[in-house]
Amino acid sequence: MKRPIYLDYNSTTPTDPKVLEAMKPFFSESFGNAASQAHMYGWEAEETVEQARQTVADLIGAKSKKNIIFTSGATESNNMVIKGIVHGARKKPVHIITQKTEHKSILDSCREIEKQGHEVTYIDVDSDGLVDPNDVKKAIKENTILCSVMKANNEIGTIQPIEEIASICHKKNVLFHSDAVQAVGKIPVDVQEEGIDLLSLSGHKIYGPKGIGAFYIARRSPPIIISPLLHGGGHETGKRSGTLNVPGIVGLAKALELCFDEIPREAQRLAKLRDSFIREIQSKIEGSHLNGHPTKRLPNNINISFDGIKADELILAVPEIAISSGSACSSGSPEPSYVISALTNSKERVNAAIRLGLGRWTTKENLDVALNCLTRAVEKIRAKSPLAKIK
Ligand code: PMP
Repeated sequence: MKRPIYLDYNSTTPTDPKVLEAMKPFFSESFGNAASQAHMYGWEAEETVEQARQTVADLIGAKSKKNIIFTSGATESNNMVIKGIVHGARKKPVHIITQKTEHKSILDSCREIEKQGHEVTYIDVDSDGLVDPNDVKKAIKENTILCSVMKANNEIGTIQPIEEIASICHKKNVLFHSDAVQAVGKIPVDVQEEGIDLLSLSGHKIYGPKGIGAFYIARRSPPIIISPLLHGGGHETGKRSGTLNVPGIVGLAKALELCFDEIPREAQRLAKLRDSFIREIQSKIEGSHLNGHPTKRLPNNINISFDGIKADELILAVPEIAISSGSACSSGSPEPSYVISALTNSKERVNAAIRLGLGRWTTKENLDVALNCLTRAVEKIRAKSPLAKIK
């Protein structure tokens, strides 16, 4: 069977061959444990990890490599920030602020701390998925210790005004965290310029390997206290025990390096492809609605609903392309996307939403195929069910 054209780069990305090459030696000849102090294998691994840490720190604008903790991915980083900051707080119960379209790894961590008696405010978004910074300001209470707002959304690509939100938080002594998984490597991210105290990122969204991520913690006086999720050998200054994934760490740093080198050019190329696809699909298919902000949007994300069309049915009708409905992390669950539900009351629009994620190997020809097969499939489904009204 011919493999479909991959258009799901917000879900995951293939590892770039250059990244794989950089990782290879650390599976075989340089396989040492970075915590082994007694021999060359360990020293080599430790040096490699520290170089990668420096690269990650430099690229995201961190002051020092000591700000970077390696994790197994952004799910862990996000759990670490919500649970770690709350558990590390001196006075309890505490209050934290987040918003309704965050990734499940933030929202479900928040549910957990609510069960422990803490309070969480989930801020609404507008019909484009944007948080109003004033809502953050209004939500801050005396015991608010943390606000977490993602830099860019994984389903609809909407980019949040995080600099403004961070500045509001700092005026009230509230820490600001951003899940930047979808933004890092695609649009500029600079923790110091943007006032980010804590940040999560992941390797597999940026042409690096799966199962590796990082967590940025600003150095403050007094220091930010994070209670660890994992206890053990005291790795990563006690914040995250567990033998370091040296090949993964090398891959993450190399992947970041390649993305940062290319951001201005690649962002422009993808935004051009994205915008021309949106224009063409809207002119070819009557009753199509873009979900998410038209311009404050990741260059590689398209999320669209067609009147009268269920996403699942449409996806089955276009085997030539690999696209998704909702986010991969919640697919498999029959629930409609909570992200699109936060934008609209129309259940039909929620159930119709499909996502196309463009990436490093996406061409204009790929998108022409996508455009043609989606147009044909929508016409066919609508012809079969005359009740499918165009609004
Ligand atoms: N946050 C966002 C915005 C994401 O898109 C994802 C991955 N879908 C995650 C967190 C979780 O990342 P990981 O797969 O590295 O656990």
